[in-house]
Amino acid sequence: MGKLSLKCFGVGDGWPCADRNHSSFLYRFGKTAILFDCGEPLSRAYKASGLDYNAFDRIILSHLHADHIGGFFMFMQGLWLEQRTKPLLIHLPSDGIKPIQSLLQAGMLFPELFKCKFRFEPLKLQKPIITSTVRVTPFRTSHLDQFRLAFHKRYPQKFQAFCFLIETGRRRMGHSGDIGRPEDLEPLLQKPLDVLVCELAHFSPEALFRYLKGRAIRQIIFIHVARPFWTNLRHTRQLAARMLGGIPFTFARDNEELPL
Ligand SMILES: [Zn+2]
Ligand SMILES: [Zn+2]
Repeated sequence: MGKLSLKCFGVGDGWPCADRNHSSFLYRFGKTAILFDCGEPLSRAYKASGLDYNAFDRIILSHLHADHIGGFFMFMQGLWLEQRTKPLLIHLPSDGIKPIQSLLQAGMLFPELFKCKFRFEPLKLQKPIITSTVRVTPFRTSHLDQFRLAFHKRYPQKFQAFCFLIETGRRRMGHSGDIGRPEDLEPLLQKPLDVLVCELAHFSPEALFRYLKGRAIRQIIFIHVARPFWTNLRHTRQLAARMLGGIPFTFARDNEELPL
């Protein structure tokens, strides 16, 4: 099995951000690579990384908030102009498929222009995405439950948000996407995790650290850290060191590549 790594194109949260990009992460698992989320300015960050445009196999969009999909269209334009050739599967909440296809068409990003074939697939709860080297299982998160409560009558849609269990060889990793509360991570923690890549924006650091304390997790990588906790990172780090019960952790930065 080849090298496992996580390249963080954007570790910002959902607020406009002067010092961080929005969510986008490239996981590399030997022969397979998957891009999770396409927050802006992914096109720029990707180009700056020097990576080949065939360097990933699939895109997974965890939910349809703009900080996770805002860079998708320019990134697709890049795949056309940089002449990606490898077929591309894009997995996303089903509510997004038609609108995204319409916007690609309105933006003159016609499939005929591309050298690669691309296709959209709806994410399905607990139905794994399987490639030759990795298996990614989506689980529900409560991240959009408040929106559902307030808006489902006027806007009947599914309000789906997903977190993911990633299994490759004997390694198990979790990617939180956006969650509503720490308990959303429960399905990822049924067995020991080698790595948990976890957001820290929709609850207090104390609530998350308390929940994760002493769990069988070898390493935690914090991402999508809300501005108050990021501005005061020293304090957030001290709190994590005090509360996590010895689990090693790191706060990822934009463009950082971490071994997994
Ligand atoms: Zn977000
Ligand atoms: Zn969100």
